[in-house]
Amino acid sequence: MSIFARIIEGSLPAEKVFEDEHCIVINDIHPQAPVHVLVIPKKAMTNLNDATLADQTLLGHLMLVVPKVAAQLGMADGYRVIINNGAAAGQTVFHLHLHVLGGRRYSEQHLGR
Ligand code: 5GP
Repeated sequence: MSIFARIIEGSLPAEKVFEDEHCIVINDIHPQAPVHVLVIPKKAMTNLNDATLADQTLLGHLMLVVPKVAAQLGMADGYRVIINNGAAAGQTVFHLHLHVLGGRRYSEQHLGR
């Protein structure tokens, strides 16, 4: 069971900033920006490679949760949304999640860092 599955079931604590029937949003334990949250579907899938047509609505839902939480956290004017999809891309927790980072200005020069 992944760390995020344990957080979802409640056996591992996390700072939750949003929850609905399909997902949770938690503060990242090692933030890479003033605001760094993770949008995590309750349904376990390794990453996007695991998703099927049956997950279409869920994936769309996650994307709609992002601006809602961003506004809640005071980032409505800009933030980054990142998925590290697979070990070669830096994924370390193998339960799909979207990183949402903000609270500081980003420029093109920072892309990918
Ligand atoms: P990945 O590298 O898989 O894209 O992102 C995993 C993220 O999960 C990392 O940013 C890491 O800091 C975060 N993380 C790992 N373990 C925990 C934990 O136990 N609690 C929380 N809140 N975040 C975690």
